[in-house]
Amino acid sequence: MTVEQIAQKMQENQPGLDTRIIFEAYQFAKLAHGEQKRKTGEPYIIHPLHTAYILAQIKADLPTVVAGILHDVPEDTSTTIEEVAATFGTEIASLVAGVTKLSKVKYRGIERYRESLRKMFLAMAEDLRVVLIKFADRLHNLRTLDAVEPKSKIKTASETLEIYAPIAGLLGVWSLKWQMEDLCFKYLHPAEYKDLEYRYEIERKAELNQYIQKIKLLLASELDQVGIHYTIEGRFKHLYSIWKKMSDKHRKFDDIHDVFALRVIVDNVSDCYKVLGIIHSLWTPNYNRFKDYIAVPKPNGYRSLHTTVFGPHGKSTEFQIRTQAMHNEALYGVSAHFAYKEKNRKPLRWVKEILDLQREIKDTGEFITQAKLNIFQNRIFVFTPKGDVYDLPADATPVDFAYAVHTDIGNKCTAAMINNKIAKLDQKLVNGDTVEIILDQSRKRPNADWLKFVSTKKAKDKIKIQTKKFSLERLKKIVPGLGK
Ligand code: MN
Repeated sequence: MTVEQIAQKMQENQPGLDTRIIFEAYQFAKLAHGEQKRKTGEPYIIHPLHTAYILAQIKADLPTVVAGILHDVPEDTSTTIEEVAATFGTEIASLVAGVTKLSKVKYRGIERYRESLRKMFLAMAEDLRVVLIKFADRLHNLRTLDAVEPKSKIKTASETLEIYAPIAGLLGVWSLKWQMEDLCFKYLHPAEYKDLEYRYEIERKAELNQYIQKIKLLLASELDQVGIHYTIEGRFKHLYSIWKKMSDKHRKFDDIHDVFALRVIVDNVSDCYKVLGIIHSLWTPNYNRFKDYIAVPKPNGYRSLHTTVFGPHGKSTEFQIRTQAMHNEALYGVSAHFAYKEKNRKPLRWVKEILDLQREIKDTGEFITQAKLNIFQNRIFVFTPKGDVYDLPADATPVDFAYAVHTDIGNKCTAAMINNKIAKLDQKLVNGDTVEIILDQSRKRPNADWLKFVSTKKAKDKIKIQTKKFSLERLKKIVPGLGK
């Protein structure tokens, strides 16, 4: 890894960018780290350079990449953060200071877990870019983890899997999430990793690649005829997510079918739909599997057209069609936003949610429990009849949905229509359901029994408040003089 490679990558991302500061940061960090060596025996400076290169790969902006080169200077050398500020300015210095703060977690066991989670959220509240640097730092450390002792190897890998990877997913930085997960999988379950790697990478991928090649040729010749500019690539599910699917759903490797998809990247939105039409004219689509996330983006901002067709030999084949900008967002999430500074982009809903949660809940223990419940759990997306979308935890019911829409709707709900069919209030919702709440305007308060099945904090709190109020009023009637 060289500093020139980092500068070159940044110029690919942002043509015409002045990259002199990258070289200055390199000289500064190299001098500060001096003769320090990593556990692998390499000169220390190799690590910050790799960190910065990973940041350039996820299209982070220039200050973030420079801070990546400097990230271990104040902590590991005699050069101070003030000296960094004097040379590189306050923006870069505060990014570096943020990373330094994050790495100082002195607790052990579950306390350590809580503390590092809390620190991640605090850092995110100040500047999301700090967390990106920490991800890049962690990813390079994972790549070189063989050099450290087994005990801390396990500790680092589990912390990454439980905290870093979910937050990376939350921020949409999928490319880092996948890389971190596969490396952790390898350290935490070496035998299973090896077995799956052999069967997937060596036995299965060759055959799949042949199939993908065949489809690519057929599609390319059609696209060439109509003059659409495109790239087509095969995308494989990563090992950890296959393994997780196998263990969660008790399936064998051979029963996992969606291990690959074809991605078609084009210049603009109208070409996306043209490509979709061409694919559907070549192969019969499975209409149950068609999703237009361009017209209706996922709540996390994800956009693409997804369609599954019966390809050659009737083989079920998924296509994902998107523009380059959508592709960058899908792989790099918030990171790509910093470089592109697109107009009209909405702040990520997830990020807003974490920050709100942090303001609402002062108690750390409670905050972490709620953060895990609200953010790390699987989410489902449910629609109102008008097409508004709400994201809820995977075990949400119509009552949770009703309270998510409005407290009054929750308090007065009496039944629900799920996908136009009458349903009970405790029925579990599934992804994509359209839910209509039927109200009883004469209803005075929610039913305390709902507490047995609701899953969101909002629904629980509101039901408790309303039912408590009611029992207090009733009590006052029975016991004269109470509460006066
Ligand atoms: Mn580091």
